Amino acid sequence: MAVFRRRESPPSPVNHYSEYRPCVRDDFQECCAYCLLHEDWAAGRENFELDHFRPKSLSQFASLAKEFYNLYYACHPCNHLKGSAWPEPSLEAAGYVFLDFCAETFSSHFHENADGAWQPLSRGAEYTLERLRLNRKHLVRIRLLLREIASARGVQVVDWNLPARDQLRELLEGIVDS
Ligand SMILES: [Zn+2]
Repeated sequence: MAVFRRRESPPSPVNHYSEYRPCVRDDFQECCAYCLLHEDWAAGRENFELDHFRPKSLSQFASLAKEFYNLYYACHPCNHLKGSAWPEPSLEAAGYVFLDFCAETFSSHFHENADGAWQPLSRGAEYTLERLRLNRKHLVRIRLLLREIASARGVQVVDWNLPARDQLRELLEGIVDS
């Protein structure tokens, strides 16, 4: 099962793709499509942007600029690092692609080590991890902190196969008011 599940039919057409933001945010349950962190753990909603999964600045994808399902919710660092990057056809054919968690499960591509680092298990994971620096210091520290909280409370660690929002709420239930 994919991590994220998009709505079955797209919202009504808009003049500018940014008008889709509330619906995209909702589909991604306020989490980044790439590092999977929830807004509350990633500097809040002001730090989130709409990413064109297939970059609109590349001529072959220009027609997707306003395509709802090409819009992914992403934190600024992930979106900025991704930019207009897209694998060359030869790399893409060999499986070096940006992982699409609207289609893929997390555990088929990554294993989270006890120290919070993600270990790639596929070529797509290798490519995405390197391009988006998914083991950047901040992310690894947050994952480790989440593990420590789960361990202290005797509950399950966050399962990245599912959107993090509700799991994080449960993890912190009784500790903080959300
Ligand atoms: Zn991110």
